[in-house]
Amino acid sequence: MGTVVDGNSARTNSGKENRQWIYAKKPSGKLYNYRQWVGYLLLLFLFAAPFIKINGNPFLMFNIIERKFSIFGSVFYPQDLHIFVFGMLIMMVGIVLFTAVYGRVWCGWTCPQTIFMELIFRRIEYLIEGDWIQQRKLNEGPDSDARAWKKVLKHTIFLVISFFISNIFLAYIIGVDALLKIMTDPVDQHAIGFASIIVFTLAFYGVFAYVREIVCTALCPYGRLQGVLLDEKSLTVAYDLNRGEPRGKLKKNDTEQGDCIDCKLCVHVCPTGIDIRNGTQLECVNCTACIDACDTVMDKIGKPRRLIGFYSMDDLSEGGKTGKKNNKRAIAYSAILVVLTVVFGFLLFSRSEIDGRLLRATGSSYQLREDGKVSNLYTLELLNKSGKDIQFNIESAEGRIGVQMVNKIHDLKKEGSATLSFFLLMDKGEIEQYKQNVKVNIVSEGKVMETLKTTFIAPPNKE
Ligand code: SF4
Ligand code: SF4
Repeated sequence: MGTVVDGNSARTNSGKENRQWIYAKKPSGKLYNYRQWVGYLLLLFLFAAPFIKINGNPFLMFNIIERKFSIFGSVFYPQDLHIFVFGMLIMMVGIVLFTAVYGRVWCGWTCPQTIFMELIFRRIEYLIEGDWIQQRKLNEGPDSDARAWKKVLKHTIFLVISFFISNIFLAYIIGVDALLKIMTDPVDQHAIGFASIIVFTLAFYGVFAYVREIVCTALCPYGRLQGVLLDEKSLTVAYDLNRGEPRGKLKKNDTEQGDCIDCKLCVHVCPTGIDIRNGTQLECVNCTACIDACDTVMDKIGKPRRLIGFYSMDDLSEGGKTGKKNNKRAIAYSAILVVLTVVFGFLLFSRSEIDGRLLRATGSSYQLREDGKVSNLYTLELLNKSGKDIQFNIESAEGRIGVQMVNKIHDLKKEGSATLSFFLLMDKGEIEQYKQNVKVNIVSEGKVMETLKTTFIAPPNKE
């Protein structure tokens, strides 16, 4: 056993390497049970979401390659970028607001990295290699067949699960149908797809087998932002210094001693290897394992629970609890969030199922016809975003303007696009100015799906 600083010494391996490997004691307790329920429900959702379809569209898909996103079955194309940007903005403000009020609970309870690590990979490790002390002994002990077999078994299972996660991850990007094609077609037809699966598999394996808590403590930008997002009223997992100190081994009838008996159980269970008694630290992911551990100790020594608990710095400051959980920043964030959500809802519900780009045909102006009508030629590019095949007609929004199709396209396949050409016609006698605004409707099943604006040019009647 090498020299390692503070309470972590029993949990880390020889200090030959720069990194101190963390052997986290198997957590247990009421909060851990809740965390497992939350985690397994989220895992179920995470694994099921790419397979769920609404109106034939994936429930969730983020196809950054084709810039096509499906959210709750609504497909968003590059033309809907403004809606998507708003959605992302709302999500970011929501995370900031949530963090300002509840600290880093997202990290410890709902982040996929933590859920996979703590509820899948670490549990497998506990099953194969035992709890933290057995794991340390195994790693620091002599080479043996038993150790080799355990390592081979563990890493094989890690690789298989990483392969599975990598497929799910890819399903979120390209959709489950494209993924199935990669799996069933010959390898040479989807070389990039197969390469992606292998790269993702190795990346996930590397993260969960080796990188682990470093993702949370050093790599994740959200984790690094905590210092800015938290203030003295934010709730975080914290140690009640006033109550716990001075810490020391349990002695009967010692009225000077604090409630902390310095058992270090809170340190042993910490997956990021910190001692929460040293104060709030960026490395703390608010997993609450130390709360459970300390509550067990408090129960045993007959002291009240929550020596470690969810507290704000104000709660723990000299003078005790303020009772106020809201702050001005949280209210301001909430107000911004409400405004953004209303705008997002409006954009979402007013979103057209068909996208059209209407332009006057390049290089053309107007045509004078023998029957006394004036015509303008237009080009219309259409994209079907409705998630189903549609039949449509092009109609003028005003009775005095007629439509004459050049190419007679009236069907659009799901996600299909088409380029149409048509004339708008007007009696010369009706024309009052050289350039006037006109509207064109795209009508399907008697319903106007989209109204497009353009201009109609012609010499005015008096000319
Ligand atoms: S200090 Fe406690 S809540 Fe924070 S990461 Fe460690 S065990 Fe989890
Ligand atoms: S688990 Fe509780 S009593 Fe034990 S060292 Fe941590 S804070 Fe002190």
